[in-house]
Amino acid sequence: MKKHNFYAGPSILSEYTIKNTAAAVENFAGTGLSILEVSHRSKEFVAVSDEARALIKELLDVPAGYEVVFLGGGASLQFCMVPFNLLNKKASYLDTGTWASNAIKEAKFFGNVEVVASSKDSNYSFIPKNFTVSPDSDYFHFTTNNTIFGTEMRYDPEVGCPLVADMSSDIFSRPIDVSKYDVIYAGAQKNLAPAGVTLAIVREGALGNVERPIPTMLDYRTHIKKESMFNTPPVLPIFAALQTLRWYKELGGVAALEKINLEKAAILYDEIDRNKLFKGTAAVEDRSIMNVCFVMNEEYQELEAEFNSFASAAGMVGIKGHRSVGGFRASIYNAMPKSSVEALVATMKEFEKLH
Ligand SMILES: *Cc1c(COP(=O)(O)O)cnc(C)c1O
Repeated sequence: MKKHNFYAGPSILSEYTIKNTAAAVENFAGTGLSILEVSHRSKEFVAVSDEARALIKELLDVPAGYEVVFLGGGASLQFCMVPFNLLNKKASYLDTGTWASNAIKEAKFFGNVEVVASSKDSNYSFIPKNFTVSPDSDYFHFTTNNTIFGTEMRYDPEVGCPLVADMSSDIFSRPIDVSKYDVIYAGAQKNLAPAGVTLAIVREGALGNVERPIPTMLDYRTHIKKESMFNTPPVLPIFAALQTLRWYKELGGVAALEKINLEKAAILYDEIDRNKLFKGTAAVEDRSIMNVCFVMNEEYQELEAEFNSFASAAGMVGIKGHRSVGGFRASIYNAMPKSSVEALVATMKEFEKLH
């Protein structure tokens, strides 16, 4: 039986993605070769890469003057690649979690970093709201969705300088205004494909404005110029990404996905708020629609391990919370069917009846 996959990353992919990828592992595009062994320069694979980048532009309504690139090194390499390419004198960062603070650490290698606000003192349970960004900042960096802490900024903040965002765990979950951003980046393994590829959407006019030399592989311009084929790209993850992107388009695009995501998240949060055993950990107004974090209520703490086993017996996997929050985290990315969320809610209700 297929499990209900609530893992935070790598995480659930659509059946469409998995089926088509499995078929291509046997025989890719009628070539008589597996996608695992095909040349990245074959016309069949170049078509895959081109279509995937074009679909990203279409789904996110990417304006002229921007390019989409596929990169290696995960979102974590973007923590250094962004300041390498963009930080001239000063950049501003919002500290909303582990990934945000990792990005801050790397930026400090390249220049003056202004941390405009942080919610670290309350274990990142909310998104700081009243902060000001220096108008002379080269960019303002933030993490749209804090995968570990279950908070999310579902808007494009107005701060007076260009935005840069780590959208690893909520890209394609809702419409965004790309024109406000210099760089948007996302590791694939949450909402797109297996691990191994990172996508970046880069405003070309933002490049070439720093004095420092940039190593070839770390320069966005290299990958834009070579259409993500400067070095051998991860062929299989890009193929899988294309399947997911086609599936997103078929479903009606990111606006349609947002509607379903809001519905799924509401079903789960409603149960967390109703059920006497559980409580949410993130500030209500900042709750993520991708990663739902909750713990046992004070008087039921001792039931934590038991609920974990109870849920896994019911076919749920990956609901154990990250060690820095504890409790539970249900990651309900785009590919998570509503029926799996309903199954988790039914399990929570059943567990409540037992206690
Ligand atoms: C998972 C995650 C990362 C790290 O991604 P890697 O690809 O492992 O480097 C960074 N930022 C966010 C928001 C994430 O969810």
